[in-house]
Amino acid sequence: PAMLGILGGGQLGRMFAMAAKTMGYSVTVLDPDPNAPAAEIADIHLCKPYTDPEALAALAGQCAAVTTEFENVNAESMRWLAAQGVKVSPSGDSVAIAQDRMKEKNFIRDAGLATAPFLVIANSGDLEQDLTPYLPGILKTARNGYDGKGQARINNLEEARYALSELKHQPCVLEKMLPLKAEVSVIVARSAANEIACFPPAENIHTNGILDISIVPARISAEITERARSMAIQLVEKLDYIGVIAVEFFVLEDDSLVINEMAPRPHNSGHYTLDATLSSQFEQQVRTMCGLYPGKPDLHTPVVMVNLLGDVWHDDGSDPHWEVMLTAPNTKLHLYGKKEARAGRKMGHYNVLASNVDAALEQALALKETL
Ligand code: ATP
Ligand code: MG
Ligand code: MG
Repeated sequence: PAMLGILGGGQLGRMFAMAAKTMGYSVTVLDPDPNAPAAEIADIHLCKPYTDPEALAALAGQCAAVTTEFENVNAESMRWLAAQGVKVSPSGDSVAIAQDRMKEKNFIRDAGLATAPFLVIANSGDLEQDLTPYLPGILKTARNGYDGKGQARINNLEEARYALSELKHQPCVLEKMLPLKAEVSVIVARSAANEIACFPPAENIHTNGILDISIVPARISAEITERARSMAIQLVEKLDYIGVIAVEFFVLEDDSLVINEMAPRPHNSGHYTLDATLSSQFEQQVRTMCGLYPGKPDLHTPVVMVNLLGDVWHDDGSDPHWEVMLTAPNTKLHLYGKKEARAGRKMGHYNVLASNVDAALEQALALKETL
């Protein structure tokens, strides 16, 4: 079997490499860090930065197909690889849209799908218009934001001006704060032949701006579930997207759905698929990049995923009590091999499988206390 390439060797690159190796592929990872999580699993090409022409040329020479684990990859590098005859998914064009909130929001709106009311703030002059339809709001940098970083909540013009200067006058989007009943995400895999597999929506709970827990099936009606799936598929088809994509939704008080953002890669909220569906989101990434039919996305069993941040490591640096947690035989632990457990750093996650989500959630929360 062929060699597959991935830009980025974080935990997503690592889990991708594991899925690819299971299917007999070799994997080359491009990352500036020789100790990146994926380096334990796959060959690593060091690069600095990801646009390093030598490293990209090596990847193009070796790999039949290339993908990415992070959305801030240089879209031009993806296009260059494609021009060398390598199968590249997602496309540079899709990545360029997903990595820029201005392009992303405009694309979603132009696709006829709902977003929060938003205003592009390309510079401070753009604040000198009627902001009332967007207040109270959130100012978000157009690029490089994640885990709620690069965002500020604002109530008036004065706060908006202050926030923009705190964000170093980067281009931003001002979004109206919406009353959220829930947040859900839908992960879709689509092949070049338009074969689509859509995972069941995950209900996501964030703590301090970072995903904390995903609950599947999401505690929303069958009708909302179906609408979310259908909106995600519409978006994917409009993008002519190839690969795995995560679409984040807000469920509003009146049960309407708006699309918040998309990630052109497997997503933290899809880690439940490692244990609760036949094909994981990483296997789908392998399949779609290779032109293979996507695997079956149906849920075997209700599941709750809990993220493990560095915060759960003990003050003396020792590991949490995995042995206690693993006395629950319906729990699956995934650690990313990161050496240093810093606060807020994603170190791993666990999935709790049970006959219903209420039981899974209750047990998942209780297990966290044993760590
Ligand atoms: P991620 O780590 O998912 O990429 P991010 O930094 O790109 O996150 P967003 O997903 O845009 O940021 O926002 C983070 C969280 O802030 C959302 O999950 C939601 O809880 C809240 N939020 C964002 N926008 C809005 C809004 N318009 N109205 C209400 N809440 C919002
Ligand atoms: Mg984001
Ligand atoms: Mg988000």
